[in-house]
Amino acid sequence: MRFFQTPPVLPWLFPKVWWKRPVQDKTIFLTFDDGPIPEVTPFLLEQLALYRAKATFFCVGENLIRYPEIAKKVATEGHRLANHTHQHVKAWKTPPQDYLRQVEQCQAALEQIGAGNNQVKLFRPPHGQITRAHLKLLQPDYQVVMWSMLTYDFDVTLPPQTCLEKAVTGIKPGAVVVMHDSLKADQNLRYVLPRLLRHFSEQGYSFKTL
Ligand SMILES: [Zn+2]
Repeated sequence: MRFFQTPPVLPWLFPKVWWKRPVQDKTIFLTFDDGPIPEVTPFLLEQLALYRAKATFFCVGENLIRYPEIAKKVATEGHRLANHTHQHVKAWKTPPQDYLRQVEQCQAALEQIGAGNNQVKLFRPPHGQITRAHLKLLQPDYQVVMWSMLTYDFDVTLPPQTCLEKAVTGIKPGAVVVMHDSLKADQNLRYVLPRLLRHFSEQGYSFKTL
């Protein structure tokens, strides 16, 4: 079972988490998780630039340390860098204190490249896994961001046409859309992203950072 659109019960259970954003106009919030990596992130930047689209990148701390130049380029081009733990750990398998350390380590890596001093620190939990205990520790300092639309770009068994079709029919103003700058998602992403950008630009939408 694939949930392209977030089931309404989740925002109801976790109202402080961002699932989609209130907007007055046709705005979409694209987000890219797990990078930056040299194989995929530069391609995303090229595509986004063609449409003057801005996006939010939830980065893995280890990748920030490995590829600081790519991370800086993402920031320089007007996108927002945000926190996705240091080693992409799962909340359901990591005790809250250890998890917080992972988040703080990633935040330190963001600060290292000059991208950590936003007023609101955004954090997205890997795999969308969270518990109330983890939230309690995080929420004083971090705004937790989930999504309203998951493209399943990382699912190599899914035809890219299906990813695109689900995104095109499911995205509404204020949508928070998840894609991935990861090797697994590369194939679907190269098909979906250019078409998605073109489609929604033609419909009068703009793409902004969270
Ligand atoms: Zn992730």
